[in-house]
Amino acid sequence: MSKIYQVTGIGLNEKSLQLQETIFHNANGYIGVRGTLEEGVPADFDTMRGMYINGFYDIAPMKQAEKLCNLVEDKESMLNVADTQTIEVSFDGQKFSMADDADCRYVRTLDMEKGITRREVDWSNKEGKQLHFNITRMASFEERSLFTIDYCFQSIDFSGTVEIHSRHLGLVRNYFNPNDPRLAGESHNHLKKEDVHICESGACLVSSTIESHLKVASAVANIVTVNQKRQPSEVVTYDETAHAMDVSYRFDIRPGDEVRIIKYSIFTDSIREEDCRNVADEKLSKVVGQGIASYYKKQQEYLKEFWNNSSMEIVGDGDLNESLCFNMYQLLQSAGYDGYSSIAAKGLSGEGYEGHYFWDTEMFMVPYFAMTNPAIARKLLEYRYKTLGKAKENAALLGHKKGALYPWRTITGRECSGYYPSGTAQYHIDGDIAYAVILYYKTSGDWEFIKEMGLKILLETNRLWLDVGNYYKDRFVINCVTGPDEYTCIVNNNYYTNASAKYSMQWCLKFIQRLAEEKDAYQQFVKENDLTEEEIQAMKEAEEKMYLPYDETLGINPQDDSFLQKPIWDLEHTPQEEFPLLLHYHPLHLYRYQVCKQADTVLAHYLFPDYQDKETEENSFRYYEKITTHDSSLSTCVFSIMASRLGLKDKAYYYFGDSAKMDLLNTHKNSKDGIHAANMGGSYMAIVNGFAGLRAEEETLFLAPSIPEKWQGYHFRVRYHGSLLEICVNKETCSVELLEGEAVSLCIYGQEYTMDAGSRKAELSYQEN
Ligand code: BGC
Repeated sequence: MSKIYQVTGIGLNEKSLQLQETIFHNANGYIGVRGTLEEGVPADFDTMRGMYINGFYDIAPMKQAEKLCNLVEDKESMLNVADTQTIEVSFDGQKFSMADDADCRYVRTLDMEKGITRREVDWSNKEGKQLHFNITRMASFEERSLFTIDYCFQSIDFSGTVEIHSRHLGLVRNYFNPNDPRLAGESHNHLKKEDVHICESGACLVSSTIESHLKVASAVANIVTVNQKRQPSEVVTYDETAHAMDVSYRFDIRPGDEVRIIKYSIFTDSIREEDCRNVADEKLSKVVGQGIASYYKKQQEYLKEFWNNSSMEIVGDGDLNESLCFNMYQLLQSAGYDGYSSIAAKGLSGEGYEGHYFWDTEMFMVPYFAMTNPAIARKLLEYRYKTLGKAKENAALLGHKKGALYPWRTITGRECSGYYPSGTAQYHIDGDIAYAVILYYKTSGDWEFIKEMGLKILLETNRLWLDVGNYYKDRFVINCVTGPDEYTCIVNNNYYTNASAKYSMQWCLKFIQRLAEEKDAYQQFVKENDLTEEEIQAMKEAEEKMYLPYDETLGINPQDDSFLQKPIWDLEHTPQEEFPLLLHYHPLHLYRYQVCKQADTVLAHYLFPDYQDKETEENSFRYYEKITTHDSSLSTCVFSIMASRLGLKDKAYYYFGDSAKMDLLNTHKNSKDGIHAANMGGSYMAIVNGFAGLRAEEETLFLAPSIPEKWQGYHFRVRYHGSLLEICVNKETCSVELLEGEAVSLCIYGQEYTMDAGSRKAELSYQEN
C-alpha cells in the first residue's frame, strides 16, 4: 500500500490552501503544526496559522445570557502557543511568495512512511530568474517536543543577494469565526511575555497564559548552510513588544548554489515539566547535537513499527487504500500518549471545537488503538481516570448526590459546553467511557488496568446512573437526558443511553465479582471506594429492570419516549443548501421533528447486540435511515457497520465510501478547520467491525466476514490479548494467521478454532449469513 499522498497545483488558491493547512499538518500527539506556508499568505487570505500543544489551554469567558444556577460561564480553549514557522527569503529584495508567481508549480507530499510533509515549488522572480524550493517538515515521534523545518532552495539561474529572516513569535492569537458554532466565536489575548534568553544552541521564549497560569517555552535554533558550508554571519534581534525573535542572514548566491536552513523548534510546557524553560534549552542542545538526519531515521523506524501493527489493504479498490492509510496516520498524529491528554475532535490539525475532547475518543478512536496499539488506548483511558475527580465535581454541580459525570467537552476535565441541551445533557458520555474501558479490557486482557483504574471509573459512573435514574412502574428509567443525536434534546429514556447504562452496570458487577476472588485487593477496593452491599444490590436491580423502549407497531426501538409522537421532517424537499440543518434552523424547531443528525439507536444496536433481536435491528435501521441527515461526521461509519451486520452489502459499501474519504474530499466542507478524527476511527471500524464482523470478547475473537462486490479481497492486522493476527478475506475464504504471541481462540461464523504455535494459520470457506 502506497503511503504517500500528493497534491499538485499552480499558483496560490485560497480555498485549496485552507484545506491543505489541515491535510498537510504535522503532529505527534504532543505538538501539532498547521500546514501553513513559511513565507505567509497575502493579507486578505483567510488562514489558520497555528502551533498547538495537546492539552495546553487557557480559559475564555463564555457568558450565559441568563444567569441560571450552575451553568458554566467559562471554557478551556486549546491555545495557539507560538509561531516558529516563519522563514522569509528575499532575492535582490523581492520576497519569495507563491502569490507573486501565478504560474508557479507546486507539489505537496505527505509521506506516511517517513513521517514528513514536503512542499516543492518552482518559482520565478519578477526578472524571470528561477529557483527551486524543497521544504520538509516533521513533528518527531522520537522526541515529541521537536518540530523541524528543513528549508532548501537552489538557484537555477539567479545571481544576486539573498536575505533570510527566520522568525519566532511568542505572542500569538487563536483563530475565530463568529458565524460558526463549531469554532471559537471571539478572539482573546491569552498569552503574556514571561522570559527571553539566548541558550547554547539558539534562543528561547517563554510565555504564560493569562487565566490558567501555565507556561510554555519555545526554543529555536537555525543552522544555515550554503553548498553544505555553514553560514556563520547571523544577526539576532528581539522585539520586546511582540515578544519576537528574528534571526537574519544576508549573502550572495549564484546559479547552482544550494541553501539549506534547518530550523529546530522545541516546545515544552508547565503541565508536564516543572521547569519547562530549562528543559527546552536542554532538549534544543540535544537535538541540534544529534542532527536532523538521526531524527529522520528514528521517525522512519517508529513508523515501521506502527505500520507493522496497523497494516491494512483493500485489493481491487485503488484509491481507498490511500484514504485508509491517511486516516490511520492522522489518528496516530492526534493521539495523546502521556496520560495528560486525549484526542481532540480535530486532533492537532486545527481549531475546530477548540481542541476539546468529546465521546469521539472513546467510541470511535479507542477501538482503533485497542486493536492495533493497546498502549495508546490505555493512556487515553488513563487520562479519563486522572480526571475522575473533576467528573465527580461536575456531577455535584448538577445536583447529584453520588457518582461522576464526565463533561461533554473538555480539556482538563471541566465542562466546557456552553449549550447544555446538546452538551452537558449528553449523559451517555459516562456510558461511552465505561464502554471503552470494557472494550480495552476485552481486547487486551489487561486485568491490572481494571483493578487500578477501570473499575473505579465504572463504579463512579454507575453510581451516577443510580442517582439520575428512578423506578417508574417497576422499570428503571432515565429522564431528561440527550442521546448522541443532537437534533433531539432533553428526552426521557433515550434508548442508547439506557442501553449503555445497562451494559456498564453488567460489567461493573462482573468486575466486582471477579475482584472478590482476590480477597485482599477486594477489601482494599471496598474500603477505598466505600462500596456497600446495598449499592451492589441496587446496581443489580437497576440493570435487570432497565427500561429499553420498544414500539410494537413499528417493531423498532424508538429513540426515546416521545420520539415517535413527532412529525417526520421532509428531508426529500429540504434544499441542499440548508444542510447541515443546525446552521439554518433554530434548535427548538429541529427538536420537534423526527430528524436525526447522526446514528443514535443504530449505534446502540451495533454496540449492544444482545439487547434486541435481528428483526428489530433491521426495522430500526430502515426507519432511522430515512430520517438521518448525517450532518455529524460520526454517523455514516455507524450505518456502514450496521448495514454489514444486517447483510445489506450495497448500503454498507455506500456509507463506508462516504466515511473513508471525508477529509481528503472535504465532503463536509469544513475540513479546513481540522480533520474529522472520530470519523477516521469510524472508517477503520467499518472495515474491521463492519465488513469483517470482528467482535472481541473476553476469551474469544469473533469474525463474520463479508466482502463488498467491488473488492477482490482485503487484509488487516489486529492485536488481541497481546498476540498479533493477520486476517485475510477473499471472495470465498477467510484466513487468519498468528504472527506473534500466544494461542488465540477464534470463532468464525460459529465455527471455533484455536490458533497456537502449532496451527499458525486457519483457512476456511465461508458463506455470509
Ligand atoms: C457531533 C457530536 C460530536 C462533536 C465533535 C458534533 O457535531 O454531533 O457527536 O461529539 O461533533 O466531533
